[in-house]
Amino acid sequence: MAVMHQIILASLFLAEPCSYSRSVQGLGSLCEITFYTEYEETAEIALDDAVAKIKYLDSLLSIFSPASEVSRLNTEKTLQASPELLRAVTASLQVSNLSHGAFDISVNPLVELWGFYRKKRKRSELPDSEIVKKACASVDYRKIVVKGDSVIIPKDMMIDLGGIAQGLAADIVMETLRKHGIRSALVNIGGEVMAIGRKPNGAQWHVAIKDPRRPGITKVVGLENQSMSTSGDYEKFFMINGKRYAHIIDPRSGMPAQGCISVTIVAENTAYADALATAVFVLGPKKAEALLKTLPDVKAIIYVEKKGRVDIGYSKGL
Ligand code: AMP
Ligand code: MG
Repeated sequence: MAVMHQIILASLFLAEPCSYSRSVQGLGSLCEITFYTEYEETAEIALDDAVAKIKYLDSLLSIFSPASEVSRLNTEKTLQASPELLRAVTASLQVSNLSHGAFDISVNPLVELWGFYRKKRKRSELPDSEIVKKACASVDYRKIVVKGDSVIIPKDMMIDLGGIAQGLAADIVMETLRKHGIRSALVNIGGEVMAIGRKPNGAQWHVAIKDPRRPGITKVVGLENQSMSTSGDYEKFFMINGKRYAHIIDPRSGMPAQGCISVTIVAENTAYADALATAVFVLGPKKAEALLKTLPDVKAIIYVEKKGRVDIGYSKGL
């Protein structure tokens, strides 16, 4: 009887899961961590640990810091890499192979040449085609070598993890939360999102897709043990003679990719979703459709512009 009373009392006093969240600046964007747990003490430790992880990943993967590991690789060309950098390079090469080079982290000289990284982004005319052609010559993911824990790149190559670093960071931050026993969480690193479990009320985590042309959204997606990534032409771009040139570059032509205006991918991990969204953006709706049809576990929606309006170019599962 006494035991029965204790069980009833214990269940009466077992705390309801509470929501915890924190936002920090990292990897060039806003990073947001949200989760539910009954254990307040664990929650604070998990949040501190997740924020420390973001800072650490920033020190490895950001090309904006000359002291980062990827910047050292760009200077030294051969590097014994951290497990995180190795993971970024390996996952990138996988999507490069899958997309036949549409995704290519050696695209950096082209991104620099177009001026997408300048503080005051302004460009009123196209760059000289000979200079673009020259920069293309140093872009080729097939020349990146991973040997044991070393990464080796050619002398004239510079790599840029901008198309995958935030996605990988979302995966790694989520792994950190899981280690602390968190089972219901949403991690958002600059728009690259991973969700695990459901909310305590049984609902999925809902994430919106931005309308690429006007304030507002096009769609809300429910996520549960899934990641979602969007690549678009509406945040970093130049208008030259009325045409939009955005920061995602076709490595073969050296020109900003045309065709898609926004690509959203839902997949089982964020590094993959992030790189694939960039790759699909480069491929354009037609070639992307052919690729996406071969990937059964991937959901996607591609927006295009038709007669000045946002239209669905292709969608699969979304
Ligand atoms: P995202 O917003 O994930 O599509 O990433 C865009 C960023 O990825 C750009 O700002 C560049 O740093 C980098 N990038 C641009 N073009 C490519 C490409 N073809 N392959 C890989 N990374 C790219
Ligand atoms: Mg990406």
